[in-house]
Amino acid sequence: FAPWDDPEAKPLIQFKNVTKRFGDFTAIEDLTLDIYAKEFFALLGPSGCGKTTLMRMLGGFETPSEGTILLDGVDIGPVPPNERPVNMMFQSYALFPHLSVWDNIAFGLKRSAMPKDQIGDRVEKMLKLTQLGKFAKRKPHQISGGQRQRVALARALAKAPKLLLLDEPLGALDKKLRHETQFELMDIQETTGTTFVIVTHDQEEAMTVASRVAVMTEGKLAQVATPDQIYEAPNSTYVADFIGDVNIIEGTVEVPEKGAADTAVTIRWANHKAPINAYSDRHLPAASSVHFAIRPEKVAISSEAPEAANVVEGKILDIAYLGNISTYHVEVAPGMVIKAQATNNRRISRRNLTWEDHVYLSWTDTAGVVLTE
Ligand code: ATP
Repeated sequence: FAPWDDPEAKPLIQFKNVTKRFGDFTAIEDLTLDIYAKEFFALLGPSGCGKTTLMRMLGGFETPSEGTILLDGVDIGPVPPNERPVNMMFQSYALFPHLSVWDNIAFGLKRSAMPKDQIGDRVEKMLKLTQLGKFAKRKPHQISGGQRQRVALARALAKAPKLLLLDEPLGALDKKLRHETQFELMDIQETTGTTFVIVTHDQEEAMTVASRVAVMTEGKLAQVATPDQIYEAPNSTYVADFIGDVNIIEGTVEVPEKGAADTAVTIRWANHKAPINAYSDRHLPAASSVHFAIRPEKVAISSEAPEAANVVEGKILDIAYLGNISTYHVEVAPGMVIKAQATNNRRISRRNLTWEDHVYLSWTDTAGVVLTE
């Protein structure tokens, strides 16, 4: 399932050069983006970057100042929210407290022209989908937070929209329930085949549920890619830093790359004894400034010198024990720390590594990425 790689595939939603201004403030700037049917698409970014504004334009609650939004190839600009095949689920769930679970789910259907028996069938189907059958008669205050979230989802899906917008749908749940519910959401999305667009602050959540993630910054798209591409091949230090933990090392190109894809490049940085050997898919002129980004789990730590493409010596400043793994903060040049991660295993004890120890960090020449932005 990768319609974004298929030049023949037609997107369900197309943002074409969309700009949204509020007064003289630009919330979305010249944004172009395709979202495909059956995608679980996540909008991720810091507060104020424009996620909700993008979502509200899809729902029809805001109109673009410039540009067009197409759904199935049709400009939805003039279509009012209630006539769009789009539904929105809010963080607050907005359930009716005096109505039963059954009636909450049926509410939107009753207001449509749907015959009564079909409404009944539809509600039963939704109850089954969200495993709420035995709670049908209860009121919202008689069920748990997780169950309320499922009622809101059942209600939002009852009219079988083409597109469901979810604004921080799991924000009110505690961490454990949130994790479980992420998998439920994925199951329900897959079963119904509805296109989901989710707004979240939580990078782990976006990475877990999404087919693709759009990382946003200040009204623009920083990168749109699958979760593993975003993690393994971020296109900028901003994206590398926003998703997960990363070491970012400033340096200059010593041996320039020859211009072909994936050729070797050597980077000089603060530790002059250990130039970094890496690969780049871009042409990097000699002496140009770059950043080398590498995840802590790609950096090995040992007390004896290993054989590797990159080896740098340092001193342990800090150790964070996280149960299954430990993160080591290692000073590799004056004032400069590289984080390394190692899995903890009782049989391979790393207890011999401790504060102030002299250690070797190492990584392969393909473990990190060279970034120019
Ligand atoms: P959060 O994660 O905090 O919800 P967000 O990424 O969803 O943030 P938006 O709600 O889309 O951000 O807001 C983007 C920017 O546009 C913000 O700076 C916000 O203050 C501004 N903005 C949003 N709606 C309006 C409005 N109606 N009038 C003026 N400014 C607005």
